[in-house]
Amino acid sequence: MSELRELYQQVILDHTKRPRNFRTIPDTANVAEGFNRLCGDRITLYIKVENDRVADIAFQGAGCAISTAAASMMTEALKGRPLAEVEPLFKRFHAMVTSPPDQEVDDADLGKLAVFAGVREFPVRVKCATLAWHTLKAALDHKSGQVTTE
Ligand code: ZN
Repeated sequence: MSELRELYQQVILDHTKRPRNFRTIPDTANVAEGFNRLCGDRITLYIKVENDRVADIAFQGAGCAISTAAASMMTEALKGRPLAEVEPLFKRFHAMVTSPPDQEVDDADLGKLAVFAGVREFPVRVKCATLAWHTLKAALDHKSGQVTTE
């Protein structure tokens, strides 16, 4: 268990220090801003869809380690994927981070994202971990304005 916790911390730290896809995508209309009031995390999410696939995805913003790592790993996990897989993956991710801490993690399809099972022990961090996903949904829906995790 402590080994798992260490791995979890290493992966999160790595993505916090060197966030992947941390940039803008100037030529896309699918942009949304997210704000987690509880923690102060802010994110701008960019996604470019081509042929029903995630052709490019990127983010910018400032937030805690969990929110930054979650956004970074989300962009890594989704780049190149069929659009149809985005929503089901979000559902799996959300179900995982909101499940009881003692419940076995169903990490099928989640891959590296399974490290976020660790936030189950810190319920206030769940919103940090899901902010990027909520913001992504808004970006895909072309919703304007700001998303909050409320
Ligand atoms: Zn946070």
